[in-house]
Amino acid sequence: AISGATGAMLIERAKKVLPGGVSRNTLLYDGPLRYVRHGKGCKVVDVDGREYIDFANNVAAHIHGHAYGPIVRAVTDQLQRGTAFTMATEAEVRFAEHLCSRSAAFEKIRFVNSGTEAVMAGMKAARAYTGRPKIAKVEGSYHGTYDFAEVSQGSRPEDWGEADHPVAVPLAEGTPPAVTDNMVVLPFNDAEKAIAILDAHRHEIACILVDPVPHRIGMMPVSRTFTKAMRHWADRNGALLMFDEVITFRNGYGGVQEDLGVRPDLTSLGKMIGGGFPVGALAGRDEVMAVFAQGEKGLRLPLAGTFSANPVTMTAGFVAMSLFGPESVAQLNRLGDYARISIAEAIRAADVPACVCGAGSLLRLHLKDKPPRNYREAYPSAKEKKAMGALIAALYDRGVMLIHTGSAALSTPMGRDEIDRLCSAVHGSLVSIRPLLED
Ligand code: PMP
Repeated sequence: AISGATGAMLIERAKKVLPGGVSRNTLLYDGPLRYVRHGKGCKVVDVDGREYIDFANNVAAHIHGHAYGPIVRAVTDQLQRGTAFTMATEAEVRFAEHLCSRSAAFEKIRFVNSGTEAVMAGMKAARAYTGRPKIAKVEGSYHGTYDFAEVSQGSRPEDWGEADHPVAVPLAEGTPPAVTDNMVVLPFNDAEKAIAILDAHRHEIACILVDPVPHRIGMMPVSRTFTKAMRHWADRNGALLMFDEVITFRNGYGGVQEDLGVRPDLTSLGKMIGGGFPVGALAGRDEVMAVFAQGEKGLRLPLAGTFSANPVTMTAGFVAMSLFGPESVAQLNRLGDYARISIAEAIRAADVPACVCGAGSLLRLHLKDKPPRNYREAYPSAKEKKAMGALIAALYDRGVMLIHTGSAALSTPMGRDEIDRLCSAVHGSLVSIRPLLED
């Protein structure tokens, strides 16, 4: 810490100057906020001197863990030459070339500063390209904090409407009705019902937005049947298909879309591709991405951003991604398989109602006896929520940090040893919270 303050002292100071004590609600859980002193590789030490294996990785953003040597060296060099200019840099061009080379679906790419902005740019691009107002999204799916993207992941089940026909519910108080009026909400992995809903808005839908392994829906992968049906519907009805791979891009060299057998028109990226720095990007078909450029119809979608494509992020991202090639992706995914199998064993041994979901290098623990299939099933009951808070705290006490939803994202410095330590911590923690899960 800068001053040698303890976590407890920092919490008190933070509460006086930051609403709720934080700048991102993601950090809150039932226990006290923890303050980090430093991180290296997959280890983090807090200001009170406690060490953790970091399975949260800044909510799945770090693929090489903390303070990765090649990134530190490249960024240090760039820092000495300036951080952001009113001119373009070669670092941007080089990184764009690299990312476009990873997927045939990425013909052009536009950089922004966050996943939120990437999703926003994608929705606006789809509207500008099609001239239509509505966006279809899956119920419960998280896509950042743009008004439209936030719709239908609220915490009041009584507002959600029928499962077959979910209502577009605003997340934030004060959201104007114009936002929800222009959102169409689909049930996850139910192609037939989704198509019936889409058909009712046939001529108004600009794009269908899908996260292929949606975290908030429980981290169950999207089915090939569902993505194929969405692609087919979009093609027949003049709409676009957009994948949000802000988190999932880590699971395939060219993202999860490689394995889904369909090519999206647009893909939002973020997190991992920034090499530890704030980032977002929208990649996609040349014809659609042309809305961002001057053309015969003028500039259809102006999009500025003071720090977009700054050379620090571009350098860090390029190094991180260049050193996460097909072999590393496959290796980390195998470690993910090992982790899911081992955690399932830990759950059996602890004899509690829990299960593990996920894919590739992502996993999520649920305090439910079977994997949820959609948002309504994934949404934790009051009892499960309380128990999850206790589980996260118990894991912290055993030197393991998870994302506070019970999710983990692996990083390349990890091996089976770290997974084994995770599993023994999960086992001990589940046993310790068992009374909270009993009726
Ligand atoms: N989309 C998805 C799938 C995400 O998981 C997130 C962040 N958790 C976002 C978009 C928003 O990204 P950011 O926090 O960088 O704005």
